[in-house]
Amino acid sequence: MTTQRAPAARALEELRGWHEKLRAQFPILTGHPELAYLDSAATSQKPEAVLDAVREYLTTSNANAGRGTYPWANRTTELMSETRRRIKEFLHDPDPERSGVHLTGGTTEGLRTVARDWLAPRLADGDEIVVPFADHEANLRPWLEVGELLARQGVRVRVRALPTQESSGEYDMAELARLVTPRTRLVAATHVHHVYGADMDVRRLRAAVGPGVPICLDAAQSVGHLPVSMAELDVDFAVFSGHKALALPGSGAVWARNARGPAFAPGGWDGSPNTTGAVALCAALDWLDAADTARVERWTRALAARLTDGLRRLPAYEVLGCPRSLAADSPMAGRQGIVTFRHRRIASGDLGFVLFHEGFMVRSDSLCQGGAGERQHSVRVSLHVYNSPEEVTRLLGALASLG
Ligand code: PLP
Repeated sequence: MTTQRAPAARALEELRGWHEKLRAQFPILTGHPELAYLDSAATSQKPEAVLDAVREYLTTSNANAGRGTYPWANRTTELMSETRRRIKEFLHDPDPERSGVHLTGGTTEGLRTVARDWLAPRLADGDEIVVPFADHEANLRPWLEVGELLARQGVRVRVRALPTQESSGEYDMAELARLVTPRTRLVAATHVHHVYGADMDVRRLRAAVGPGVPICLDAAQSVGHLPVSMAELDVDFAVFSGHKALALPGSGAVWARNARGPAFAPGGWDGSPNTTGAVALCAALDWLDAADTARVERWTRALAARLTDGLRRLPAYEVLGCPRSLAADSPMAGRQGIVTFRHRRIASGDLGFVLFHEGFMVRSDSLCQGGAGERQHSVRVSLHVYNSPEEVTRLLGALASLG
């Protein structure tokens, strides 16, 4: 009979050699062995291959894109198209002829572009949208802003909260199905929750909202961390940040299926694009595919399970999030590589400060959660392929020593 601890322990054992080879490719980490970087949900570290690709580009063919006809400019324009093609491939796009990719500065900008350029012009008085109030601010504010903008023009749009089950934080699909009306023009949701680490089970959204309602997915915490397939998820937009997926800050993309409503065509004059961001993103996706995102997911979930299990044995700590994701080691259902917790007596800001002095870089504030205030501060540990079981064990030791 397998024990409760088996799946995570087995994953960590089976993938150890794979992980060690990959970790060695992150110069910032090999250069600071005394530190543990545990904040990858905020931004990821970059492998050598990404740094090399940027250097190669900047030292061989740096030019602007879509302007000029000399070889460097042509190569840069081609690199931008190649990045868009690569994103479709990485996301297992089932219909790349029809879909579109718009490169952005990140998830926030991408969601705002969908809201402003695609959704807003289609909304009429009395229309409704459903948005996730308990998720990241980036997936709330752009939708609220559209409502406010239209209200100033006399168009009243009803913004409804994507229902969540209070006890668990999970989306309430039955309640969502009741909320959708013939006036619902969009449902916005999140793939993996940036605080609870919960996989929000978005496969079930389509059945809940019906065949005609566009769904916009915030994939900031899933792309680059687990296999994400547009062939499997029937959503209309997937929006992510390059910097959370091993590429550079200021990069990201909106993928649009272009199957419901007009094709996504961001308006206005974009200006010069982030060419190095695109080069880095392309290199990062190559690296992730070679590393195998299914293994990345297995590894980070196993680390998160080890941490969750350890924390639950320390009575001073409370782990936040869905009970389904707290199932920890055994089925590890729903828990991705993010674990958020509180000490029952030590303020989270103080805990983060103490942990840094022990060499751990964690996040400790309100975590940009929509509607979260001071009182909801907590400590978040978010993991990637380069994090090791030893870092988790050391962290648990440091937490235990605080009583
Ligand atoms: N959505 C989620 C779920 C996130 O975790 C984040 C960043 O933490 C964002 C959106 C915003 O991403 P960016 O700051 O790259 O725009």
